[in-house]
Amino acid sequence: MNILLFGPPGAGKGTQSSLLVSKRDFVQISTGDILRGAISRKTELGSLAQAFMSRGQLVPDDLVISLVKQALEQIKGDFILDGFPRTVAQAEALEVLLKGIEKEIERAIFISVPVGALVKRLSGRRVCKLCGSVFHIENKQPKLNGVCDSCGGELVQRDDDKESVIDERMRAYSKHTAPLIEYYKKLGKYFEVNGDKDEAAVFANIEEILNFT
Ligand code: AMP
Repeated sequence: MNILLFGPPGAGKGTQSSLLVSKRDFVQISTGDILRGAISRKTELGSLAQAFMSRGQLVPDDLVISLVKQALEQIKGDFILDGFPRTVAQAEALEVLLKGIEKEIERAIFISVPVGALVKRLSGRRVCKLCGSVFHIENKQPKLNGVCDSCGGELVQRDDDKESVIDERMRAYSKHTAPLIEYYKKLGKYFEVNGDKDEAAVFANIEEILNFT
């Protein structure tokens, strides 16, 4: 079964996708990770995307759609789209791409978290520069301050997790991404989990949705 996870910034899409990869053998397609990879490799796409991402804005649809097209063409097995689509235009393009490769999304899972909790999560989030593992200055501290438990890499704050950028990301979410709730409801593919719980509890709810027939 192929699924997508969507929700506001900081809802836990990346964390839940990683759990699905390790426990249920999904392949993850994260547009945020692909874009950050392009930025760190200093590609042309990376420098284009960085201008939008550092301001908390969405990267233009055509760029992101072409990245997902490439990723989908190589995919083997069941996949999770993490952070894509983020606009109705992307969702419509996705339908076309999937038709072309005779695949479909069966569940669009919305992770719901109140705005106050999101801001706290984002501003306290720290990520490993090497492996991308996610920590939090209060709720998920590493054993050694500033050092990744998984690989020993340096923990840093993402540029777009700085408080000045978070507001803009929230605005982009409300304007462009929230309409996807209605979009997937109309398609009969909409499922919702309460993301304002610990990781394991949210994951258990997602598993219930996956087993739902
Ligand atoms: P994420 O890691 O999913 O929080 O994404 C980080 C940033 O990458 C977002 O704030 C956007 O600037 C950009 N981005 C990721 N996915 C998309 C997408 N599907 N459409 C447009 N921009 C995206």
